[in-house]
Amino acid sequence: DPRLKAISDAIRVMPDFPKPGIMFQDITTLVSNYKVFKDTVDIFVDRYRDKGISVVAGVEARGFIFAPAIALAIGAKFVPLRKPKKLPGKVISESYELEYGEDCLEMHVDAVQQGDRALVIDDLVATGGTLSAAIRLLERAGAEVVECACVIGIPEVKHKGTAEAIKLLNYLYPK
Ligand code: 5GP
Repeated sequence: DPRLKAISDAIRVMPDFPKPGIMFQDITTLVSNYKVFKDTVDIFVDRYRDKGISVVAGVEARGFIFAPAIALAIGAKFVPLRKPKKLPGKVISESYELEYGEDCLEMHVDAVQQGDRALVIDDLVATGGTLSAAIRLLERAGAEVVECACVIGIPEVKHKGTAEAIKLLNYLYPK
């Protein structure tokens, strides 16, 4: 797909952010380019329209940049998966491991129903821990996860663990 090179070129790599030794993949430069942002959303929309998807779940915070645009275009509802203590209603929670420590995602219990077909969106997959927690949340609430999709996959960390176990994983760059 000729659009992929422009998408990868638009991702800015920031060394030593947020900590020394980390090469941070910055997608703000991608979304500030209208054409590249639109191509990114369109590629996902082309793949997921007509798949009977009723829910697009976005992972806080950078998943929120892409998920609502995809949801609107394919005619699905948007469900935010949030960091702890942000949602006002009754929630279910799933913890996951970070390189150092632990984090947690929460979802309103009534955000999805039995029989919903969900797509999970984030900007980047590294170990896959975040996406695994998102899948557990949606499945506990009765939804079927059709696929997880990200803009970026980091190959060096990908093989470390859970990303390998996510059979339904799609990312645009690198291919
Ligand atoms: P994982 O749980 O797969 O190890 O890490 C993925 C999560 O970390 C995503 O929610 C993603 O937003 C965040 N993340 C980790 N490193 C980076 C990075 O270099 N750039 C961006 N944009 N997000 C990152």
